[in-house]
Amino acid sequence: MTKIIFATGNKDKMREIREIMQDMNVEVISMKDAGIQVDIVEDGRTFEENALIKARAVAAYTDAIVLADDSGLEIDYLNKEPGVYSARYLGEDTSYTVKNRALLERLEGVEKEKRTARFVCAIAAVLPDKTELVTRQTMEGYIGDEPEGENGFGYDPIFYLDEFGCSSAALSREQKNAISHRGKGLRAMKELLKERGSIA
Ligand code: IMP
Repeated sequence: MTKIIFATGNKDKMREIREIMQDMNVEVISMKDAGIQVDIVEDGRTFEENALIKARAVAAYTDAIVLADDSGLEIDYLNKEPGVYSARYLGEDTSYTVKNRALLERLEGVEKEKRTARFVCAIAAVLPDKTELVTRQTMEGYIGDEPEGENGFGYDPIFYLDEFGCSSAALSREQKNAISHRGKGLRAMKELLKERGSIA
C-alpha cells in the first residue's frame, strides 16, 4: 500500500485528510508516527511557499510521498491581513475570541460589500523522486458583524457565507468539508497524485 506522510501535528487535519483519501489505496500517517521530528520555520511569504517549506523539511527524511498544508484568512479591506500570519495574529497564544473581536473592531462601520474575505489553503506534495506539486484553493465569504456558531475553530465564527446565510462555525463538519478551502485543496491534490500515477 502506498504510504503518505502528512507534515502536521494537528489531529483534526489528520482526520480530515484520512476521510478524503479513504477511497484510495493509501495509508496516511503523521510525521510523529513516521518517527520524523523536525522544527520547521514557516518564513515563506505565501501560503504556497509555507506549504512547500513544510513538505520539503519532512521529505528530507523519507522517500515516501509527503504532503503539507498552509492556510489562513485574507480580509480584503485589511489588505489581506491576517494572511500567512493568521495563526500568529496578535500572538500565537492569544485566544480566537480576542483575535476575532479585534478584527471586528477594525471593520466597524464598514459596509458589507467591502467586508469580502476568503479562507485560503495551499497543499504541497514532495514525491519520492523529489518532484514538487502545489495547489491553492479558497472558500469565499465575508466578515459578519458579530461572531456566530459553535462548530469549527479559529476565525470560523466571524466568517460568513452568502449561500448559507450563516457563519462557517454554524455549519456541520460535513457541510464545511464539502466547500472548505482545505477540503477542496486536499481533493485537488488527490486528483493531481492520481493523474501522475503516484497513487492508484
Ligand atoms: P496553519 O495552516 O495550521 O498554519 O494555520 C492556519 C491558521 O489559519 C489557523 O490557525 C486559523 O487561525 C486559520 N484558519 C485556517 N483555516 C481555517 C478554518 O477553516 N477556519 C478557521 N480558521 C482557519
